[in-house]
Parts: sequence; structure tokens; C-alpha cells
Amino acid sequence: MQATDAPLALPALQAEGVTKALHGGDTTVMAVNGVSLRIDRGEFVAITGPSGSGKSTLLYLLGALDRPTSGSVRIDGADTARMHDPELAALRNRHVGFVFQFHFLLPELTALENVVLPQLVAGVARATAQARAQELLERLELTHRAGHRPHELSGGQQQRVAIARALANRPLLLLGDEPTGNLDTGNSHKVYEWLREQNQQHGQTIVLVTHNPELAEAADRVIELVDGQLVADGAGRLAPPGGSP
Ligand code: ADP
Ligand code: MG
Repeated sequence: MQATDAPLALPALQAEGVTKALHGGDTTVMAVNGVSLRIDRGEFVAITGPSGSGKSTLLYLLGALDRPTSGSVRIDGADTARMHDPELAALRNRHVGFVFQFHFLLPELTALENVVLPQLVAGVARATAQARAQELLERLELTHRAGHRPHELSGGQQQRVAIARALANRPLLLLGDEPTGNLDTGNSHKVYEWLREQNQQHGQTIVLVTHNPELAEAADRVIELVDGQLVADGAGRLAPPGGSP
């Protein structure tokens, strides 16, 4: 790689002073409060922090599922604040795969069809989309379940289908909110192995909110939130203001 001549790759994600105020009753909570961070392509990042610290809110802002009250989020260099909803939806469909704690598969579609659908939405031809879906389901040891509907699958199988679906369009970013939070240890381990393989072998950029120490440990970088603020990033806890490093 010619570091001096090659154009610098745009960061997968760039957040500047991101704030999100949420209103409940008479009170306003700064769910995310002035977060700035940059995540490069191929990074595997875990976001941790106590319950209510703003992890989910931050993840949704980073994935453009939600808009900040102030500050900016850039995905692959594109400023999401400047986009209207249809443009944002297109950006998400092209660049971002989401995996949530609960899978949200479409109940009337088979496992295979659930993985095919986002590709059709993105304009991929049906035959190509089916081949891609079969390949992903095979890698996740689900070939024998491809024709089953979600209610016929175990929780772990459903979550693996959801991961296949999230990866179907080869997104720049895979975002997960407690993706193993609802799984037993065995299934949790499979999901973890698969995510690590995606990152190491395919350079997939992954950002996961997790309480699972094994998942956090697998990450190259751990970001910690407390009260909506970033208190640690990377190797160690950030120095307090005025403190020595
Ligand atoms: P975490 O994922 O770390 O548990 P969240 O991002 O869900 O935290 O929540 C951050 C803060 O924002 C919490 O104080 C929570 O109560 C508040 N919050 C989350 N969603 C809403 C909402 N829809 N309306 C009002 N407050 C909310
Ligand atoms: Mg949460």
C-alpha cells in the first residue's frame, strides 16, 4: 500500500458533537451529549456502558435510523443531516446493516426470502439475490432451514437469519444492538465467531452495543458511555480534564 500517494479512505463513520435530547413528560434527557468519534473501515468496535447511558440512542444516530438534535453524523463521508428521509433510507439500505436484540424477521416469509428481500429492494436481480442468500445461510449453518418461516426456527437460528439479512447487501457498516442479548451461551458463541470472521476475513466494519464481555473483548476498540458522554475510547479510560495522560 502506498500510504503517501493513495487517496485517504473516508472513515466509515464520523460523529462531531452529536447530541440527542429526548423528551419524556416534563423532563428532557440528554440521551447522547456531545459525542465525537471516528470509526475507520475495517474496525471492530464495541460500545459499552450502564443501562440508560445512551448506547442504543447513539447507535441509531450512527446508523441514521434517528437524527441528532445537534452535531453531525457522516456515513462514508455523506452528511446525514443534509439528507431528506428518502435519501437517508437509500443510504441505510446501501451502507448499513442492523441487528437488534430481537430479530424483527418478517413472519410470513421463509428464512431465505427474508435474506432475499433487502437485496430486491436495493435493485439486485432475483437470481443473484437468491444465490447470495443461499451462500450466507450456508455459512451460518442454516441451509436445512432456508425454507422455514421464523416461528419454526430456534431463537439462535432466527438471530443468525437476521445477521444474514443484515449482511445481504454487503453493507459498509454492520451495527448491532445487543445482538446476542437474547441468546444462550452456545448460540451467542456462534454469532460471536461469525462476526469476528466477518471482520477479520472480509474487513467488515462492525459496531456493537454489548454487555457481553466476550464480544467486547473481541473488539479492537471499546467505547464506553456514561450519561450520554464518551468516557473511554480504545486502550484506556480518557484522562480527566486537566489530568496527566
Ligand atoms: P441504553 O441503550 O444505554 O440503555 P438508551 O439510549 O436506550 O440507553 O437511553 C438513554 C437515555 O434516554 C435514558 O435515560 C432513557 O431513559 C432515555 N430514553 C430513551 N428512549 C427514550 C424515549 N423514547 N423518550 C424519552 N427518553 C428516552
Ligand atoms: Mg439499549
